[in-house]
Amino acid sequence: MPRAQGPMRGQHPVAPHGPRFHEYGGFDIDPELQHSRVSYLRERVEAVTKEFPNAIGMDDFLFRTEVMLRRFGFTTDNSIALTSLCRDEITFPLKNAIDDIFGYSMDLDGLGGIISAGTTGLGAGLSHSPTDHLTGKERYVLFAMPHIAIDAEGRVGSIVRAGRRGQSCACGALVKMQPMFKQYKEGTLEMGLDEGGHDPLDPEFSILTRRLITAVNKDEIPDKGLPLSDVTRLADRVIRRDLDKLIGETVDVTKSDYAVVTGIQIHSTAANNRTWHPALEFISPTSMYVVKDGVRHDMDVLAIDPPTPRQLFHIAGGEEIAELPSPRRSWPGL
Ligand SMILES: [Zn+2]
Repeated sequence: MPRAQGPMRGQHPVAPHGPRFHEYGGFDIDPELQHSRVSYLRERVEAVTKEFPNAIGMDDFLFRTEVMLRRFGFTTDNSIALTSLCRDEITFPLKNAIDDIFGYSMDLDGLGGIISAGTTGLGAGLSHSPTDHLTGKERYVLFAMPHIAIDAEGRVGSIVRAGRRGQSCACGALVKMQPMFKQYKEGTLEMGLDEGGHDPLDPEFSILTRRLITAVNKDEIPDKGLPLSDVTRLADRVIRRDLDKLIGETVDVTKSDYAVVTGIQIHSTAANNRTWHPALEFISPTSMYVVKDGVRHDMDVLAIDPPTPRQLFHIAGGEEIAELPSPRRSWPGL
C-alpha cells in the first residue's frame, strides 16, 4: 500500500532553538561537513552578537538559569513562574521553554513586553504558587523580556514569519514607537504624557509609549532618533524598573523567596522567503537576582558553564541533525 510521505525530517527542525542545537554532529563522519556546520553557526551567532555582544542561545540561557536558581532552592516542584514577554506569537518558544522547566506560567505581559497586568495580575500569580510542605514558603520566578529580531544577514528588526509572504518585523510595537522619540526631541509629539493616562481603544500601546517616552532624557536622543536596538534596551530598563516597583507592592519576603530574570529575547530567521535558514532563538541577559530569606543576591548567569553541545541537543529535544546551509567562508580555529 502506498504511504504518504511525511515532512522531510532533518531538513527543518520542528521548533526554533538556541544556536548550538544544530551543532552536535554525533554521527557526522565527514570532517568537512562538521567544519561547515560550525562555520555556518558562527556566522549566525555573529550576526546577533554584533548588536548584543552577550547574547547566547535560548536553551543554553535557560539551562544556566535553571542551574543558578536551583542553588537558591528554586525547583520545578516548588516554584511558579510569571512571565512578561510581548504578546507576539513568536515569543512563545521562550514561554514554552520556561513552562517546560516550571510548569504553566502566569502571564503578566502586554505589547512590547511592558507589564500590563499590574499589582492585581502579579498578586494573583503569586497567590497561585506552590507552598512548601514544611515551612509554608512560596517561591516565585519572574521572567521579563522585550524582544527584537535580527535576521540571518544581520538586519535589525527583520524577521520572516512562517507561511507569511514578504518581510516582517519585531517588535512591531517598538518599531511603531520609534519615530516618536524624534518627535519628542523636536517638540512635535502629539500625545499626553500624564502618568496613568491611556487610550481606551489602544490601552497597551498608549501605556507602553508613555512609559518609554517619559523614561528617556530628551537631550540624549540623537537628532535622527533612536535605533530599534536602543529602543529595545530602553524597554528592558523600563520593564525592570516597573517590575521592581510592582514586586515592592505585592511580594511579602517574610513568607516567600523570589527570583527576577531579565534580558532581551532575540529571534533570528532567514533574511527572505527564498533561502531557508533555521530559526534560532537567543537571549541577551540583562540582570538576574534572587531574594532569599529577605536577602538579595545578584548573579551573573554567564558565569555558569554552558551545557555541552551533546547535552543541549538532548535538552532541546533534538532527534536528527538539521542539514544546514553552507557558510559564506571557512572559519579558522573552530
Ligand atoms: Zn512585540
